[in-house]
Amino acid sequence: MKTLFEKIVAREIPAEIIYEDDLVLAIRDINPQAPTHVLIFPKKPVPRIAEAKVEDQNLLGHLLLKAAEVAKKLNLQNGYRLVINNGVDGGETVPHLHCHIFGGRHLTWPPG
Ligand code: AMP
Repeated sequence: MKTLFEKIVAREIPAEIIYEDDLVLAIRDINPQAPTHVLIFPKKPVPRIAEAKVEDQNLLGHLLLKAAEVAKKLNLQNGYRLVINNGVDGGETVPHLHCHIFGGRHLTWPPG
């Protein structure tokens, strides 16, 4: 069965696409928690970072580099935060690895 994000990659569910290449897709989060809230994820359905494999190393590096590129494209020059939620206590709700890009306001620390 396809994950939610695989369905978005396949255009079976609509999303506002910010960036796409062969390996990753970046979309606007449907329930934004900051003025800019984008999700970037691998097209390959790695369930979560805890289950990433050594063979995913290049993919994960690409994901982070593209997250920074997307943040730049979104004019987050004052700063931004990248977040990967892992598992129940991490607040993960979609079991397809994704990195949140938050920006457009001052983000407090520590997170809740
Ligand atoms: P997480 O809680 O880290 O697993 O993040 C999942 C994120 O996916 C949440 O911020 C949701 O608001 C977001 N989300 C869920 N469904 C959609 C959708 N159809 N399009 C865009 N974002 C979504």
